[in-house]
Amino acid sequence: MEKIKMTTPLVEMDGDEMTRILWKMIKENLLEPYIDLKTEYYDLGLEHRNETNDQVTVDSAMATKKYKVAVKCATITPNAARMDEYDLKEMWKSPNGTIRAILDGTVFRAPIVVKGIEPCVKNWKKPITIARHAYGDVYKGSEMKIPGAGKVELVYTAEDGSQTKELVHKFDGPGIVQGMHNLNKSIESFARSCFTYALDTHQDLWFATKDTISKKYDHTFKDIFQEIYDAEFADKFEAAGIEYFYTLIDDAVARVMKSEGGYIWACKNYDGDVMSDMVSSAFGSLAMMTSVLVSPEGYYEYEAAHGTVQRHYYKHLKGEETSTNSVATIFAWTGALRKRGELDGIQELCDFADRLEKATIDTIESGEMTKDLALITTIENPTVLNSEGFIKAIAKRL
Ligand code: NAP
Ligand code: MG
Repeated sequence: MEKIKMTTPLVEMDGDEMTRILWKMIKENLLEPYIDLKTEYYDLGLEHRNETNDQVTVDSAMATKKYKVAVKCATITPNAARMDEYDLKEMWKSPNGTIRAILDGTVFRAPIVVKGIEPCVKNWKKPITIARHAYGDVYKGSEMKIPGAGKVELVYTAEDGSQTKELVHKFDGPGIVQGMHNLNKSIESFARSCFTYALDTHQDLWFATKDTISKKYDHTFKDIFQEIYDAEFADKFEAAGIEYFYTLIDDAVARVMKSEGGYIWACKNYDGDVMSDMVSSAFGSLAMMTSVLVSPEGYYEYEAAHGTVQRHYYKHLKGEETSTNSVATIFAWTGALRKRGELDGIQELCDFADRLEKATIDTIESGEMTKDLALITTIENPTVLNSEGFIKAIAKRL
C-alpha cells in the first residue's frame, strides 16, 4: 500500500510522562504505517524546556502561526515538587498558557461519544462542545474587604484627567467588594473564534450571559457577538444551514439539560470554568475529551484535555503494566491531520482521520477498552487491555 503524502508539515509538540509514551506508540502503530508523516518537531518535554529556558515553547507557538496546524502532547506545568524532580532552573510557566498568549485563542472542549459509555444525562445523544473565554472577569479581578461604614465607588480617570464615578455601595458596616474588567478586543476575538469554529464543525452556536441584570458588562458581550455575527457571519451561517442563538444564562442551562447535544456552547470565563467540568464529567471521562485552541486568525492547536497521567507513568517506570487510555491523544492527531488535509486539499488525509476515529470507536464498542472505561461501561464483560494492547487492537481494525 502506498503511504499518504503530505505537502505541509504539522507542528508536533511532544510532551511528558505517560502521554509521551503513548505519543510514540500512536505514531508507530497508527500513523507511520499509513502516512508519510511530515512534521516539524518541538520537544516540549520538561527537560528540554528547561535546557532551552522555555524558548522551545515560544518557537513551537511561532511555528503554529507559520503552518497553521499543531498537535500537542500533554505537558507538565511545573510546581514546587517538579523543581526538585527535574532540577529546574526556574518554575517555567504552563506551556498551554504561553501558547495561548501567543496565538490568542479560544479553547473548545468536546467529549468523544461512544456506545457503552453513556452520559449521565440520558437525553444527551451528541457531544456538547464548550467554548470558554479565557481572559479577564473574576480571574483578573481586584478585591477589597471593607472594614466598616463608608462609601465605595468605581472611578475611571481618562487620559485627559477627567473622571467618571459610579457608586458601588454605601456601607454602614463591614462587607466585601470586587472590581473586574474585560476588553472589547478580547471579546471580539472570542466571538470570531466561536463563529469560525461553528462553521468549521457545522454545529449551531449558543451564547448566554446575564445581560438582564448586568446591563453594561454582560450586555456588551451580547452586543459584540451580535455585531460581529451580523457583519461577518450571518450569510455564512445561513449558507451552511446552522444557527447562532443567544439566550439568558439560566435559560441556556435549562435548555442544555433538556437538549440532545450537538452544538457549541460559548461561555464567559467563569461560566466556562464551571460548566466544562460539569459537562465533561457528565459525559463519562476526561480521557474521552478533546481540546482544540482556535485563534481568531484561524490557527489550530489540537490536544487531549487530560494531563500527563503521572501516576501511571511511575508504574510504567517500575516495569508494571499500565492501562492508560489513548483515545483523546489519538483524536488530537486525527483532528490535526483532518485540518491539514482540509487546508492543503488532501482528501485522503481527511478520510484517513475518519477511518482512524472509526477504528478507535469500534474497538471500544466491540468491548475492547482500557481500565478507566471498563469501570464505567454498560457493555457486559469488557476485555481490559493494557496501554499498548489497546493501541494494537485499534491498529488491527484500521
Ligand atoms: P491527569 O494527568 O489528567 O491525571 C489525573 C488522573 O485521571 C490519573 O491519575 C488517572 O486516574 C486519570 N486519567 C487521566 N487521564 C487518563 C487517561 N488517559 N487514561 C486513564 N486514566 C486517566 O492529571 P494530574 O495527575 O493532575 O496531572 C499530571 C500532570 O499533568 C501535571 O504535571 C499537570 O501539570 C499536567 N497537566 C497537563 C495538562 C496539559 O498539558 N494540557 C492538563 C492537565 C494537567 P487514576 O490514577 O485513578 O487511574
Ligand atoms: Mg474548572
